[in-house]
Amino acid sequence: PPDVEQLGRSSWTLLHSITAQYPESPSPQLQSETKTFMHTFSKLYPCWHCATDFQTWMKKDGNAPRVSSREEFGRWMCEAHNAVNVKIGKKEFDCTKWEERWRTGWKD
Ligand code: FAD
Repeated sequence: PPDVEQLGRSSWTLLHSITAQYPESPSPQLQSETKTFMHTFSKLYPCWHCATDFQTWMKKDGNAPRVSSREEFGRWMCEAHNAVNVKIGKKEFDCTKWEERWRTGWKD
């Protein structure tokens, strides 16, 4: 199985990059497809205990994917990532800075 840390870094890069290029005004169809994508992603993520906990988190009140705009989706992904950060004892990321990190760009 893949290395959980390496897989995580690559996966968050993909997920945040998707939100960074998401439309400001997505069509209803794309919004629906995006929710399905996140739902399916949470089932296929190839770290099974990670996947199970992520599915449980998404089912909690207020944690369903918010996909009505780039800003909403980017914030939601940041919150999802922070939930994992907290769970594994990493520092929470300041979600006012998600766009600077993933769209307009800085290096880390
Ligand atoms: P990462 O957490 O991979 O982050 C990469 C970069 O993203 C950081 O350097 C930072 O610049 C930026 N960043 C950090 N937080 C945020 C944020 N909230 N919003 C936007 N940008 C941010 N690992 C486990 O050990 N157990 C688990 O249960 C687990 N579940 C996971 C579930 C999912 C869905 C995913 C995608 C990953 C999961 N991981 C899990 C992996 C874990 O989240 C990390 O990817 C891994 O530990 C490597 O951490 P890292 O310190 O390199 O940075």
